[in-house]
Amino acid sequence: MDRKDTQAFEATICHFQRIAKENRFAENASIAHDTDQCLVCRPDRCAGDPFTVYVDIIARCLPVRRPRLDPDLVAAIAEDAQWAGLSTSFTVQDLKDRRATAMKAFRLWVRNALETGLELLSVHSPTSLSFSLEDARGIPQREAFVEGCIERVMDQILGENST
Ligand SMILES: [Zn+2]
Repeated sequence: MDRKDTQAFEATICHFQRIAKENRFAENASIAHDTDQCLVCRPDRCAGDPFTVYVDIIARCLPVRRPRLDPDLVAAIAEDAQWAGLSTSFTVQDLKDRRATAMKAFRLWVRNALETGLELLSVHSPTSLSFSLEDARGIPQREAFVEGCIERVMDQILGENST
């Protein structure tokens, strides 16, 4: 990315992280911002694949919205696991200890959260693109990017609990 691209990326991240912190992501379409600097409004300005830029934005917002494994997040993880027919018999400690059953549910929750985020970005503006994680299927570069983002989000949220 050249300097101008980096600036737009940082402005975009900053904008969406602020919205995530205020828990206003669902209404992101109605929040005023510099649309010319916004890579979601202006996917034509993305230096690389807009899909990865969109996923990256969501992945950087999730730990802002959910900075730690609090009871609310653990309940949300268990709910997603239940919907998917996965085991829900894990505790907060199992997540902190990164036990397999718990991590499988946590991974699913992050994946679902990325998907929801992409849905919300698709209605961000008349010029924003509509993506789903399905758009990564069969494209190794995108699949690897999504997996990397999921790992990073889990590490960041678990990292808050490591001390
Ligand atoms: Zn925008």
